[in-house]
Amino acid sequence: MIQRTVLVLLAIFACGFSLPNPRILGNEYLYKEFNLITREAWSGRPARQPTRMVTPVDLVVIHHSYQPRACFNIRDCSAAMRSMQDVHQITNGWSDIGYNFAVGSDGNAYEGRGWDQVGAHAVGVNSRSIGIVLIGDWVSVVPPAIQMATTRKLIAFGVKLGYISPDYRIVGHRQVKPTECPGEALFQEISTWDRFSTVVYVGVQKPYPLYTREEWGAVPATDVQPLKTPVPYVIIHHTYIPEACNTTQQCKTAMKSMQNYHNSLDWGDIGYHFCVGSEGGAYEGRGWHNRGIHAGPANGLSVGICLIGDWRVEQPPQEMLDTTQSLISEGVLNGAISPSYKLQGHSQVMATECPGTALLNIISTWDHFTEEKFDINKQ
Ligand SMILES: [Zn+2]
Ligand SMILES: [Zn+2]
Repeated sequence: MIQRTVLVLLAIFACGFSLPNPRILGNEYLYKEFNLITREAWSGRPARQPTRMVTPVDLVVIHHSYQPRACFNIRDCSAAMRSMQDVHQITNGWSDIGYNFAVGSDGNAYEGRGWDQVGAHAVGVNSRSIGIVLIGDWVSVVPPAIQMATTRKLIAFGVKLGYISPDYRIVGHRQVKPTECPGEALFQEISTWDRFSTVVYVGVQKPYPLYTREEWGAVPATDVQPLKTPVPYVIIHHTYIPEACNTTQQCKTAMKSMQNYHNSLDWGDIGYHFCVGSEGGAYEGRGWHNRGIHAGPANGLSVGICLIGDWRVEQPPQEMLDTTQSLISEGVLNGAISPSYKLQGHSQVMATECPGTALLNIISTWDHFTEEKFDINKQ
């Protein structure tokens, strides 16, 4: 709050008393890092029914515009802003351009709804997020470095101003709804950013915790082969042994013991792509893009998810099932799993009791479950 007061004073000193609106607060301060082109400057119309947002928000949602295409100077980017506002306000009947901010390939940031107005860019999280669109089509190429640098500076500035929480997370639009946005290339790029979150918000009531290999104390894999994605199958397992784990600590121990065992079989790593604990945590095994060892002939065609415990008679807790389904949706959204994937239990691929009768009965009610046996000759 102190920091914000200082900025207000600085801004007032810098602009006399003519500063039109606190929404461009800090502009004078940040112009050396990047330009923020105001609504007036790009000739935006006023919002019809602005809704003030409770800040700080904890989420930043990244978009691409797809259309309009990339713009490389203020004139073209301003025209892009006006055309997006036209579509959102006139065609869609929204209050205003949907995004809080846009960033052009000219390296300028463009004010949309600004820091403290609820946007219309990501249904379900609009009132708790800042939506930033990187103008252009970023399906197969990444935006110019300056465009990405400005995006990061803009986010950092939102944190400094107190509109974005210091422990914010970044997600791509596709993590909120089934959409290609923000483009595959840009999505891959933002997934390397510090604050990127793998959490999927689409259709998920409670986001689930994902524990990385590092977090559960994995030893490095000794044999890593790429998995050709998207895969057409998701194969569900239980561990039988180790037994169900109910705390993060127990589940981490279970992961280590499985990795240890699989390494002793010379598999080069834990066999599964992901495991899930009874407490609802997801644990990274080989991850989305490495070939697993979990289902013989289906290894090269599937993602294997293991529900830690013995689920022959007892049913896995709901939290565990929710996380498993969320993991599958995430895999579809991030391109590792085909949108038309088939879901099977391990016993449909090989002669095994896995994933246990109780668990198999449950997954047989899920979307994409297929009764048929896996047949490598039909692939
Ligand atoms: Zn989007
Ligand atoms: Zn199995």
